[in-house]
Amino acid sequence: MTTPKKLRCDTCGALVDNLRRDVVDDDYNALNKPALWNCETCYEDKRAKRQQARGDA
Ligand SMILES: [Zn+2]
Repeated sequence: MTTPKKLRCDTCGALVDNLRRDVVDDDYNALNKPALWNCETCYEDKRAKRQQARGDA
C-alpha cells in the first residue's frame, strides 16, 4: 500500500511529488539557515538567476 505524499515548495507553495533542496542560497553563509525546498520550476528558476548574477558580476 502506497501513501502518496505531496510536498510543498517553500518558494511558491505548490504541492508537488518531488522537491529539490536549495543548498546554497546566496552564498555559503546560508549554512545557518534551514534548507529551502523547491519544486522543479523554482529550482531551475533560482539556478538560472544565480548563474545570471554570477555572469553580470
Ligand atoms: Zn515552487
